Amino acid sequence: MKQTPPAPPRHQTHTHTGSRALVRPASQPPCPGRDPLCTNSRGPGRAGSAPPAAQRPPASSRLCPPRAARRPGGAPGGRPARAQAAHPAPARPAGLGQRQRADCSGSRGRRRGREPRRRSAPSAPSFCGSGVGTEHLPFLPARPPSAERSSIELCCFAFYSGGREADDEEKIMNVKGKVILSMLVVSTVIVVFWEYINRTHSYHEEEEDIDKAKEQRKEDEEELQLLDWFNPHKRPEVVTMTGWKAPVVWEGTYSRAILENYYAKQKITVGLTVFAVGRYIEHYLEEFLTSANKFFMVGHRVIFYIMVDDVSRMPLIELGPLRSFKVFEIRPEKRWQDISMMRMKTIGEHIVAHIQHEVDFLFCMDVDQVFQDTFGLETLGQSVAQLQAWWYKADPDEFTYERRKESAAYIPFGQGDFYYHAAIFGGTPTQVLNITQECFRGILQDKKNDIEAEWHDESHLNKYFLLNKPTKILSPEYCWDYHIGLPSDIKLVKISWQTKEYNLVRNNV
Ligand code: UDP
Ligand code: MN
Repeated sequence: MKQTPPAPPRHQTHTHTGSRALVRPASQPPCPGRDPLCTNSRGPGRAGSAPPAAQRPPASSRLCPPRAARRPGGAPGGRPARAQAAHPAPARPAGLGQRQRADCSGSRGRRRGREPRRRSAPSAPSFCGSGVGTEHLPFLPARPPSAERSSIELCCFAFYSGGREADDEEKIMNVKGKVILSMLVVSTVIVVFWEYINRTHSYHEEEEDIDKAKEQRKEDEEELQLLDWFNPHKRPEVVTMTGWKAPVVWEGTYSRAILENYYAKQKITVGLTVFAVGRYIEHYLEEFLTSANKFFMVGHRVIFYIMVDDVSRMPLIELGPLRSFKVFEIRPEKRWQDISMMRMKTIGEHIVAHIQHEVDFLFCMDVDQVFQDTFGLETLGQSVAQLQAWWYKADPDEFTYERRKESAAYIPFGQGDFYYHAAIFGGTPTQVLNITQECFRGILQDKKNDIEAEWHDESHLNKYFLLNKPTKILSPEYCWDYHIGLPSDIKLVKISWQTKEYNLVRNNV
């Protein structure tokens, strides 16, 4: 029967939004109410603004001629020849008059330098509207007392000047509005561009940091190899070195003291993921965590990543110094096979979301086991695999690899190095991410092809390590099953299996 791929587990993840909202989107209206400049130029009932053309008297009733007519060949930069309404201005509240004065003073100041033009005003017919000229007189530029000018001319000029100033002012305000609008658009573009540059930059910086960290780890690894921490000849009765020169760590082959000395400078943090879903919480979790607290990376910073389907049932555990934990609630799968396999997906997601930034090395373990002795620095490596206790002496053709070609986990007879136990694997976050993603890819492919590997995630892990050789292998002492007995090869058990009580703990047996 075809299995439907399980939905992704619900879990808490840390997302980096890093999104900073722009100060103002480009689409925002250019003149928000609180922009004083915009209010000035377009505000309703603005005192002194010229009436719309439709409301102006026809040209025949113009009382003061347009400036162009009055000043043929006007100075460059002069106002366009636009007709000015000359009918008396409606009575204005005192306040508005004040405002106009205030507004006009600025433009008047600019006009001061154009005084000679005004002197060349032609003697065209002119009329002085009642009071208007008088009102505007104070705005006229100061003239020497000797200046000769008829009162009518002066009056009309004053009126004209007032209308012209209002019109000029509107234009100036228009221009100001446009300038401000353009500035807003330009600044928005700059902000958006800046944000883009910053993001690209920080992305590249992050990439560079990761590359540097990788480079550093490589150097560390090389440095470590020069150290005398590992001696494969100390255990001649067992395999202590692979064909690809990876150490197989057995009790007696390593010097933890040298490693402690080496890592003391590095101040490393080691992560450990563990899943407990359904009855595995009550059955195994407390013992696993209590023993890990005591034996896992003693003296070094440790973060336990605990994935459960019900946070409220988490056992209360007192952790020692340098130890911390993070609990995440995940969605339980219906089948135990899927619970086991989906760990690959969840671990990968958590590495991407936060673990990669939090630890230097990461281990992933089954919960149905107990630490018995120090699981220390000798286990750290780029990618670490665990020898399965029941198969460590067997011939590869006997291994329970997936032997069906249809499965992504397929390993043909005649191939294979060791049979690895999925109860423990680890490495750097980057390597573990690759392991989990590749295994999960195989799991999904099998689901699509309506096949399930014989030993589930373990079959896929074995295929992965066949193609991507681990850089370090842990002897079965690191995950021993006492049901086998205690052969002389097993000098010191670091972790032991719990008794399998599938009928008690599994949902579907
Ligand atoms: N697991 C779980 N609940 C289940 C089945 C599995 O929490 O119902 C987790 C748990 O961490 C367990 C691991 O998946 O240790 C692998 O399953 P199990 O240990 O039963 O597999 P085995 O070691 O027997 O192959
Ligand atoms: Mn197990």
